[in-house]
Amino acid sequence: MKILNYINGAFSPPLSGECLDNYNPAEGTVYGQIPNSSKEDVERAVVAAKAAFKAWSITSLEGRNRILKKISDLLLTNIDRFAMAESIDNGKPIALAKSVDIPRAASNFRFFANAITQFSSESHESVGANAVNYTLRQPIGVVGCISPWNLPLYLFTWKIAPALAAGNCVVAKPSEITPMTAYLLGEICTEAGLPNGVLNIVHGTGKLTGQAIIEHPEIKAISFTGGTQTGAHIAKVAAPMFKKLSLELGGKNPNIIFADADYEEMLHTTIRSSFSNQGQICLCGSRIFVESTIYEKFKTDFIAKTKALKVGHPSEANTDIGALVSKEHLEKVMAYIDRAPAEGAKILCGGNRITVQDAPNGYYLAPTVIEVPSNDCSLNQEEIFGPVVTLMPFDTVDEVLGYANDVKYGLSATLWTNNLKRTLRMSSELHVGIVWVNTWMMRDLRTPFGGVKSSGVGREGGFEALRFFTEAKNVCMKY
Ligand code: NAD
Repeated sequence: MKILNYINGAFSPPLSGECLDNYNPAEGTVYGQIPNSSKEDVERAVVAAKAAFKAWSITSLEGRNRILKKISDLLLTNIDRFAMAESIDNGKPIALAKSVDIPRAASNFRFFANAITQFSSESHESVGANAVNYTLRQPIGVVGCISPWNLPLYLFTWKIAPALAAGNCVVAKPSEITPMTAYLLGEICTEAGLPNGVLNIVHGTGKLTGQAIIEHPEIKAISFTGGTQTGAHIAKVAAPMFKKLSLELGGKNPNIIFADADYEEMLHTTIRSSFSNQGQICLCGSRIFVESTIYEKFKTDFIAKTKALKVGHPSEANTDIGALVSKEHLEKVMAYIDRAPAEGAKILCGGNRITVQDAPNGYYLAPTVIEVPSNDCSLNQEEIFGPVVTLMPFDTVDEVLGYANDVKYGLSATLWTNNLKRTLRMSSELHVGIVWVNTWMMRDLRTPFGGVKSSGVGREGGFEALRFFTEAKNVCMKY
């Protein structure tokens, strides 16, 4: 299948005619072609977006609300088609795509369609100076949205929906590894009545297409989710042009388990936070620290549950772990596992590729648990981003806080305990943007989302996203 760019409300091939192969990771085969768009294609998208901005920026909030809600409805009407496309493109189990990824993409549109109607700004009376100040929150203009491959439509729409709701026009690029659902989204936007040019989707590599977006002087803000290295590069390119930036980057999140936790619930959720989406979620708890009094019991039970997970073809309903997204990524993850002995670490289970029946060339890896001797080994310091977790015991709160914070990332942390004082202290002292207590990845879309340190700058979600996608203007009136 050949996919096309969506520019000015119409589908078109790249001007150069140059295409890239699109792989089905479950089979290890090429199944389609995508445009490798150049500067000229991005230019076309920017011209269309600029032309559309005049009308879209003054479209009533009810008007924007209606169209965005219609996109949400159409995503749900077409959920089977979208879930299938996401699963084939990414290798994730079809059940996960259908229960999480596509419903969440629909929620993103519905949530921001409503949020913009509730978005308000501040006013101040300058008492004694006979003046009143009010704040206008105005759309920026043309903005760029660039997203990764792990939660393709979920994260693509998490940026696009608030950008559009706030009255901007968008030039967006999904990952070249998983472009399919972004392509299908174009059809739905047209059907929902989104005016031509308001959303433009340009496909291609980061180096060519992405670079053209971040360098474009008319794109005034960039919302990016992806790797820390790419984020640093984008910041360097964007800074001299004073672009607004939101960067959601990598993570190496601690999952901290105390002996007083509700054990069965903790065990069940820890399997999920370790291996959901093949461990390819920036929020996965990839470093597990367990209070030493229950360490051996946890180790035995966790390994037994890990071994019971079914690695299989993503199209099968009972698959727990599908395929990793690409051959390159599988090799990167395997290289970390291979380092384990040299780092004094012990592979407790998994660590090997798996051959799935009828798909011998797919990129499957057994869920892997590694016991590490210390927190400073590369297995505990670097983002692996696969179905690989490490285990380490601890004795005290101070000790485990030290481990949790001694890493360059600061995205999220999970705490399992029923001790209130400990929870309050640790939630305050963990250097992260999100703390989950006795749960994981429970998301309320009104809350701020993002990381500290090398996990990024800025916050998405709720009014934070609408603030990012608008400029504040103070008006001061003397009476
Ligand atoms: P990546 O940085 O390689 O690519 C992300 C996107 O950036 C892709 O669309 C890519 O084409 C584009 N890109 C690459 N180079 C570019 C350039 N020079 N200019 C502009 N765009 C460019 O990341 P990935 O491998 O797709 O995704 C995995 C990473 O994403 C992991 O590090 C993961 O932790 C992170 N992630 C973070 C969050 C979060 O919310 N913090 C969520 C999901 C994934």
